[in-house]
Amino acid sequence: MHPHFNFDNSFARTFEGFFVPGKAEPAVAPKLLQFNHALAGELGLDPAALDSEAGAAIFSGNAIPEGAEPLAQAYAGHQFGGFAPQLGDGRALLLGEVIDTRQRRRDIQLKGSGRTPFSRGGDGKLALGPALREYLIGEGMHALGIPTTRALAAVTTGEHVYRDIPLPGAVLTRVAASHIRIGTFQFFAARGGVDKVRELADYALARHYPDTTGAENPYLAFFKVVAEAQAALVAKWMHIGFIHGVMNTDNTAISGETLDYGPCAFMDTYAPGTVFSSIDRRGRYAYANQPEILSWNLTRFAETLVPLVDPDQDRAIEMLTDAIQKVQPLYETHWLAGMRSKIGLSTEDPHDLDLVNDLLWVMKDGQADFTLVFRRLSRAVRGDSDAVHQLFNQSGAFDVWARRWRKRLEQEGAVGETCAQAMDRVNPIYIPRNHKVEEALTAAVYHGDMQPFSKLLEVLNHPFDEAAGNEAYAEPKPDPSYKTFCGT
Ligand code: AMP
Ligand code: MG
Repeated sequence: MHPHFNFDNSFARTFEGFFVPGKAEPAVAPKLLQFNHALAGELGLDPAALDSEAGAAIFSGNAIPEGAEPLAQAYAGHQFGGFAPQLGDGRALLLGEVIDTRQRRRDIQLKGSGRTPFSRGGDGKLALGPALREYLIGEGMHALGIPTTRALAAVTTGEHVYRDIPLPGAVLTRVAASHIRIGTFQFFAARGGVDKVRELADYALARHYPDTTGAENPYLAFFKVVAEAQAALVAKWMHIGFIHGVMNTDNTAISGETLDYGPCAFMDTYAPGTVFSSIDRRGRYAYANQPEILSWNLTRFAETLVPLVDPDQDRAIEMLTDAIQKVQPLYETHWLAGMRSKIGLSTEDPHDLDLVNDLLWVMKDGQADFTLVFRRLSRAVRGDSDAVHQLFNQSGAFDVWARRWRKRLEQEGAVGETCAQAMDRVNPIYIPRNHKVEEALTAAVYHGDMQPFSKLLEVLNHPFDEAAGNEAYAEPKPDPSYKTFCGT
């Protein structure tokens, strides 16, 4: 049987010059390691037909499903602050777009399928560890309610890829609202291709923000909606202690989805300067720097739109500057709204910002686990204050804070089970803990054992529901020397 994909490839149709047609390198012995049945159903695919050898052939790139038009997209990007004019899909191929069961257009991309004209010195391959890491964390983010690309399948190719040591090679099938990045705009802007930038803006606006197409100044409005989506996204990352690790402009999706899970990781003990990535030596993308980098990246985006926003360059710059200056207040509004919910508040009080910031100070001083503090605040609402109190090295300061917090809760009449339940719906008990992620990846990569991965994925699919027997998945094991590596 031939698995059917409902392809409708608008990018390939519209954008000559934005990509090169590509071909996957054959995999010698593709094996389907992981397949996302629920997502396949959402995409209108036949899960049973694809969870098979035929699926392994498709998700390794060995068989091209009917209607696919494999291509590698061109893009540029600022990496750690420096501009790289020529990046592009060096180890990925866009198979095409499908219209899903809710009429949403979604990209299906193979990552790790071999060299493309954009590979530069790279081999175009992906090792199994990074493939599974992206699968696990991306699906975990989705379950946490955070906009993200998704993982449809992971296959092993039957070959080794050579990093410091030979590692099993893999291909990850990624699903995204689109793969258009700030870097895609920069690619053409850097070459003086104003018409190309306009073409891309028109396309991205229609695809992702159709309600904005009729705006008086559509390109200024485009900037504002992208900024809004990015500000909301980064606020959500901050709410759960997520550190992206490579917030380069080529990893910033116009759709507002989290894109490219390389050296990302979740913070254990609350420390604003936390950095896990081995290549981020100066901490540019540290936890607490992410909101500032959001503005920095959006400023690079704005630069590409200057010629579109107004024929008078000064006027265009003035309008865009004004919009850029609104990004931090916008972010802060999203952030504070989410933080209020995390501590059980559903009304606004002018002192809330202080209340939230003071909790963070106390958590920092008390070296408390970020995730567990918020989760256990609901226990305090239910009458058990010890559980959260125990998380602090110096709990005196926390107790002082907790008295203020209780007063504030009483003021809005929010004490009780309803409030505690609302808190448990926004404060996860299970996040992808670094020690659990490493355990799952080590078992898969070095022992061919997918069981720990499957179990962890299952736990992460229900991050807000405490389940007996899963205690180890909620346990912090902070390791100050923990390092992550880029997903190459
Ligand atoms: P990333 O750091 O994964 O976002 O990738 C940055 C750029 O490097 C992108 O253009 C990738 O396509 C390219 N790249 C990363 N790894 C490889 C690889 N193994 N082979 C070819 N290109 C790669
Ligand atoms: Mg990337």
